[in-house]
Amino acid sequence: MDYLQGLNPQQRAAAEQINGPVMIIAGAGSGKTRVITYRVAHLIHTGVDPFNILVLTFTNKAAKEMRERISKVVGPEAKNIWMGTFHSVFAKILRVEATKIGYPSNFTIYDTDDSKSVLRAILKEMNLDDKLYAPNYVYGRISAAKNNLVSWSEYQQNEQIQADDFSNGRGHLGKVYEMYAQRCFKSGAMDFDDLLFQTNRLLKEHTDVLYKYQNKFKYLMVDEYQDTNFSQYLIVKKLAAINENLCVVGDDAQSIYAFRGANIQNILNFEKDYPDLKVFKLEQNYRSTQNIVNVANSIISNNKEQLKKNVFSEKDHGDKIKVIRAYSDNEEGKTIAEAIMQDRSTKGMKWNDFAILYRTNAQSRSMEEGLRKLNIPYKIYGGLSFYQRKEIKDLIAYFRLTFNPNDEEALKRVINYPKRAIGDTTVDRIILAAGQNDTTLWEIVKEPAKYIDGRSTAAVATFSTLIQSFQVIAQTLSAYDAALHIAQHSGLLKDLYEDKSVEGLNRYENIQELLNGIKEFSEREDIEERGLDIFMQDVALLTNDDNDKNPNADTVSLMTIHASKGLEFPQVYVVGLEENLFPSQMSLNSRTDLEEERRLFYVAVTRAESKLTISYATSRFKFGTLINCEPSRFLDEIDAQYLELDFKAKQQTGNPFFDDDRKAWNRNSDTFSKPKAAASPTPAKVKTTSLLAKAHVPSAGFAPSDTSNLQVGMEVEHERFGYGKVINLEGNKPDIKATIFFKEIGNKQLLLKFAKLRIV
Ligand code: ATP
Ligand code: MG
Repeated sequence: MDYLQGLNPQQRAAAEQINGPVMIIAGAGSGKTRVITYRVAHLIHTGVDPFNILVLTFTNKAAKEMRERISKVVGPEAKNIWMGTFHSVFAKILRVEATKIGYPSNFTIYDTDDSKSVLRAILKEMNLDDKLYAPNYVYGRISAAKNNLVSWSEYQQNEQIQADDFSNGRGHLGKVYEMYAQRCFKSGAMDFDDLLFQTNRLLKEHTDVLYKYQNKFKYLMVDEYQDTNFSQYLIVKKLAAINENLCVVGDDAQSIYAFRGANIQNILNFEKDYPDLKVFKLEQNYRSTQNIVNVANSIISNNKEQLKKNVFSEKDHGDKIKVIRAYSDNEEGKTIAEAIMQDRSTKGMKWNDFAILYRTNAQSRSMEEGLRKLNIPYKIYGGLSFYQRKEIKDLIAYFRLTFNPNDEEALKRVINYPKRAIGDTTVDRIILAAGQNDTTLWEIVKEPAKYIDGRSTAAVATFSTLIQSFQVIAQTLSAYDAALHIAQHSGLLKDLYEDKSVEGLNRYENIQELLNGIKEFSEREDIEERGLDIFMQDVALLTNDDNDKNPNADTVSLMTIHASKGLEFPQVYVVGLEENLFPSQMSLNSRTDLEEERRLFYVAVTRAESKLTISYATSRFKFGTLINCEPSRFLDEIDAQYLELDFKAKQQTGNPFFDDDRKAWNRNSDTFSKPKAAASPTPAKVKTTSLLAKAHVPSAGFAPSDTSNLQVGMEVEHERFGYGKVINLEGNKPDIKATIFFKEIGNKQLLLKFAKLRIV
C-alpha cells in the first residue's frame, strides 16, 4: 500500500484506523488534514463506495483541494465522495427533503443582508428602537439561539433567556425571533443558520430520513472539529450513530469561532460520547521552520485554557521573525509591498508564495494601496463576494422571484427597480394587505385591484404579469437564454447600460460576467440538470473563491486570519499588531475573549512555512481621523530571542516594544505581559527606503532649514521630536501653523516661525 507512504507512523496509524470513532487532536501543521485526505483514499482502496463517504471541511476551497488530491490516488471515483462545508452539504440534502418539513424544494437561501432586511422591517412594524434592537445584534441573538437549537417558542419559554433580555431592556426579542422565523418560512426561505437548524429538525422529526442518511454515510470525517457549533455537533452525532465510523480532527489552540457559537467543549466531550474512542496525537510540524514553531508555542503558552501538546519541527531554524514598525497604516502597506517585491526578485519566488493576513477586512485598503503602487498582482479572499454586489443581487432577485415568487426579500428588492412607478406607499399597502389577509405579498401583487386602492395598481399588475412570463420562459429556455431574457425584459440591462459613469460601466460588465458564468454552466456536459433553477440553487452560499475564474493566477493573497484557517504559504505577513485592533477592542473585557484573540494570532503565525513577518503602525486612520496606536500586547509575549526588529528598539528596558510610559499604561487585563528576563536586544537594521528607519541623530549639528515653502506631505525633522510628516498647514504667513505627525509622539501643532524644523 505505497500510497500511504507519505505519512509518518502516527499519521499512518490514524489513517488506517478506519472503523469506530477516532479523534486526532494535534497542533497546527502536523498533518491533520493530510491524514483525512489519505484516509479517504485508503477507504476507497479497501473497497468502500465513495458515495458512502462524507467529509465536512471548513471551506469549499479545502474540499476542492482535497478532492483533487484524492483523485490522484483513486481516479475519477473521487468525484462521488460527499465533500464540502456543513452549509453546502446540508443545503444539498435539504433540497431533496425540504417538503417533509413544509418548505418548498426550491426554497431560497437568505444571506445576511436579506436576513437583516427582514429584521429591519419587523422592528419598524413593532415600533422598536433600532439602536437598542440593532439589526446586527438581533441577528446575532437569533443566530446564537438557532445554533444552540433553541426554537422561537423555546426561546420565549426559557426563563433564563427571558430574564436576560428583560434585564437589558430587550424584552421583545422573543417576539422578534418568532416573527422573523415565520416571515422566512412564509417566504419559502432559510437563512444560513436554518440550513443546520432545519437539518436537525428534519433528522429529529423524520426517523426514516435519518435512517436513510445514516445508512448512506457509512464513514464520516470532520476537519477543524474545534470550530463546530452545537447544531453541527448534533448533526454529526446523529448521522454517525449507527456505524460510529466517525473521525474528527482538530486543534483546540485554533478554536476561533466562539462568536459564532463554536464550542470547544465538542472536543472535550468527545471522549464521553464515544468511550471506545481511539485518540491519536501528532506532534511533528511539517509546515514551518523551527523559529516559527517556537514563536507559535511561545504565543499560545500564554493561554491558560489549552490541552498540553508538544509541537516541534525538524526543519531548519530559518530566519528570525521580522517585526516592522511603520508610522502609519499606509506606510505599513508600502513597506510590506516593498519587502515582498524584494524577496520575490532576490529569492526567485512567485507572488503566490506570499500572503498578507489581517484581523479586520478594513485593513486590506492600505495593503492594497501599497501593492498597487508597485504593480504587484493580488487577490482578496473572502471579501465582498461577486454575488453580493448590488447589480448582481438585483438580477438574482429576479431569478429568485421567478422560481419562488413567495420570496419577499426578492420581491421588495425589484418591485420598483428599475423604476416602474410603484412607490413606497404602494409597497407599504401591499405589505399591510398581506398582513391583514394573512397571505403572501405575491398573492396581493397578483391581484392588486382586489386588495389595494390607488393609482399604482395597474403598474403592480404589470409587474406580476412580467414575473409570470419569466416563470414560463424559465420552464422552456436554457439557463443562459432564460437569464438573458430576464436581464433584458426586466429593464435591468438597459438601466445599467444607460448609466455611462465608470461605476455604471463596471456594473454592466458584472452582469455580463454573470451571464457568461451561466452560459458556461448551461453548456456543461458533466451534469444532467442544467436549468437556471439548478444554477440558482445555493448561490447565497457561494463565496468569492468559488467564483474564482482564474484560481491558478500568480497573485499575492490577502485575507482575514479567520479565512486563512487550514492554509499555508511560504511567506506570511501578519499586519496590524496593535492594541484595540489585535487584540480587538471588544476582546479586552474578559479572559475568555482575549484568549480567543490569542488563538487567532496563533492561527496566523502558523500559516507560515519559511518566513514570518509581523508589523504594526503607530498611527492609523479610523473613521476618518488619524489615531495613535500602541503596539499589541501579543508582541510583548513573544520570546524576544526569535525576533529581528526592523527599527531601533528601546534597548534599555530589554523589552523591544514598550517604553516605561507604556508599561505604566493602565491595562485592564491580568493576562498582560509577565515580567520577562532582559532579552539581549537585537541590533536595529537600517533600511534605506522608509522614513522610519532613518536613524534620528538629535541635536548634534542640527540646522533648521527655510520652511517658508513647506507643503503637506513633506518629511521633516524636529530638533526634539524627531522625524515626522506634515499633514496639515493652516493660517497665513507669518503665523502658519503646521500639524505634523511625528513617528515618536504622534500629532503636534507647531507655529512655523518658531519651530526648529529641517526639511529632509
Ligand atoms: P492546520 O492545523 O493548520 O490545519 P494540519 O494539521 O491540517 O494544519 P496539514 O495541512 O495536513 O496540517 O499539513 C501541513 C503541511 O505539512 C502540509 O503541507 C502537508 O502536506 C505537510 N505534511 C504533513 N505530514 C507530512 C508528512 N508525513 N510528510 C511530508 N509532509 C507532510
Ligand atoms: Mg488542516
